[in-house]
Amino acid sequence: MKTIAEASRKTPVLCETDVVVIGGGAAGIGAALSSARSGAKTVLIERYSFLGGCQTLTFNPSFSFIDDHIQGGVVQELIDKLIEGKAILPSNAGGIKEHWSTREGCYYFDAEYYKRLLDILMAEAGVKMLYYSYAVDAAVEGGSIKAVVIETMEGRQAVLCKSVIDCTGIAELAWRAGAECEGEEGYPDDRFGPFKGQHMGFGYGYYLRNLDYKKFREFAEENPEEFDGWVKGRKLFQEEKATGRLHSLRDSLIFQEYEDGRVWMLSPGYSIPKGRHPWEADLITEATVDMRRQAWSIFELCRERIPGFEKTEISVTPTRLMFRDSHRIVGEYKITEKDIYSGRTFEDSIACCNMPPDYFYPNGSHKFDFNLTPYDVPYRSIISKDFDNLLAAGGAISMEFIPFAALRYCVPAMCVGQAAGTAAALASKEKVAPKNIEVSKLQSKLASQGFVTTNKNLDPALVEMYRKRTKSWGGGFGM
Ligand SMILES: Cc1cc2nc3c(=O)[nH]c(=O)nc-3n(C[C@H](O)[C@H](O)[C@H](O)COP(=O)(O)OP(=O)(O)OC[C@H]3O[C@@H](n4cnc5c(N)ncnc54)[C@H](O)[C@@H]3O)c2cc1C
Repeated sequence: MKTIAEASRKTPVLCETDVVVIGGGAAGIGAALSSARSGAKTVLIERYSFLGGCQTLTFNPSFSFIDDHIQGGVVQELIDKLIEGKAILPSNAGGIKEHWSTREGCYYFDAEYYKRLLDILMAEAGVKMLYYSYAVDAAVEGGSIKAVVIETMEGRQAVLCKSVIDCTGIAELAWRAGAECEGEEGYPDDRFGPFKGQHMGFGYGYYLRNLDYKKFREFAEENPEEFDGWVKGRKLFQEEKATGRLHSLRDSLIFQEYEDGRVWMLSPGYSIPKGRHPWEADLITEATVDMRRQAWSIFELCRERIPGFEKTEISVTPTRLMFRDSHRIVGEYKITEKDIYSGRTFEDSIACCNMPPDYFYPNGSHKFDFNLTPYDVPYRSIISKDFDNLLAAGGAISMEFIPFAALRYCVPAMCVGQAAGTAAALASKEKVAPKNIEVSKLQSKLASQGFVTTNKNLDPALVEMYRKRTKSWGGGFGM
C-alpha cells in the first residue's frame, strides 16, 4: 500500500472532562445521561447535529422488544416521556404486541420530537454536547486513553478525559485508537450456507408523503394476504422483478402507513460481497448510490401499482446508511452464542436482555430467532482488554457474531450504555480506572436506577413465559 507522511502537529485542547461518550445513538444516550446524572463531568461527541443515531439518522424511529419487567432505567424513562408528549405513533408492527408481558412490545415515535426531547434531557443532566465533532483518534499513554482527538470546523482538537465510552455502534474510536477489535468475519460458519464469511449488509428507512390513507386501507383490507401484514407485496415484487423493472435486493415490501399521509418505507438493503468490509469508503459509496436507486425504484412501483399511492412523493432519504456488523472491541470477556442461548447468569452481569438475535441475510431476507430466555451481559464484555479506561456499549461490545445480532439493537444498546455511563462515573468518583471498579457497587447503583442487572433477579414465571413463547412462535419469523 502506498503511503504519505503527514506533518506532526500540536493539537489544541478543547476541554477537559471525566467521561467522554462518543456517539449519540441509543447507547450514547444511555451512557451520557447516566454518567452525568451520577455526578461525572461528561462530554458527548456526535458527528452529526442531533441525537438518536440510527433511530433518527437512518430512520428507525422505534423501540422494540420492550418488557418493563426487564429494562427499567433510561429506556423506560424515554418511553414514558414520549407517551406524555403524545409522540408515539400508531403501528401495525407484526404480532409482537400481544406477546409482551406488560406494555406493548414495540413503540414507533415521532423522531423530531425525540431529537428535541434528547437535547432537553442532556441539558438538564449537565452533559456538555459537541455536535459536528468527529472522533478520529486517541492519545494513549501506557494502558490508558488520555484524550480523544476530534475533527471539528476549527480543525483537530483534543478532549482530555479519565474514561472513554465508545458508542459509535462500530467501535470506531476503539479501532482507531489501536485497541484490539474484531469483526472481519461476518456470518461465522457453515450453518449460514452461502452467507458464511459475508457481513449482514447495509439498510435504512425512508419516507413518502401524500398517501391517500383511506384508499390504501380499503385496498389492504380487500387484499389481506398481500397487503395487510408487516411484510407486503410479495407477488407484486416477484412480477416486477421478473420484468427487470424493479431494482430491489429484497423480495418484498415493508412499510408502515400513517393517517396523515406519511409512509415509512423499510425496503432498501445492500449485500456486501464476500471479502469486502462495511468500513471501506468506496464500497459505502457504491452502496449509497445503489440504495438510493432502490428507494426510487420501490417508490415508483408503489406509485404506479398500489391504490392510494398515486400522488405520493419521496419526502426524505437518510444522510447515511445503517451499518450492521462492523468492528467490536475485544474485551476482558467475549459473550458467546452459547451464553445467550443458555440464558447464562454472570456474577458480574450489568444488564439483562430479552432481545432475540435478528439475522439480516445478504440476500435481503431476515429472521428473528426466539429460542431463548432473558440473558446476562457481563461487565467484562464492555471493557477493552487493552485500555483500562475504554468501555463500549451497543454493537461495539465484546461478543461473537450471533450475540451481536441481538445486542446491537436499541433497547440492549441503551441499557448497556446506561451501565457503562454509571460505571465510568463511579470510576471517576473513586479515582480508579473503570477496569478496577467493584462491580457489586455498580450493580447496586444500577438497581437504584430501577434497572434489572441480571436474569437471576427475574420472576421465574416471567422466564417461563419466554420459554413458552419460544414454542408458540415456532422459533421465529422471517421476511
Ligand atoms: C431502518 C431500520 C430499522 C431498524 N429496526 C430496528 C428495530 O425494529 N428494533 C431495534 O431495536 N433496532 C432496530 N434497528 C437498529 C437500531 O436502530 C440500531 O441497532 C441501534 O439504534 C444502534 O444504536 P447505537 O447507539 O449502538 O448506534 P447508532 O445508532 O449507530 O449510533 C451511533 C452514533 O455515533 C455517531 N458516531 C459514529 N462514529 C462516530 C465518531 N467517530 N465520532 C462521532 N460520532 C460518531 C453516529 O453519528 C451515531 O449518531 C433498525 C435500524 C434501521 C436503520
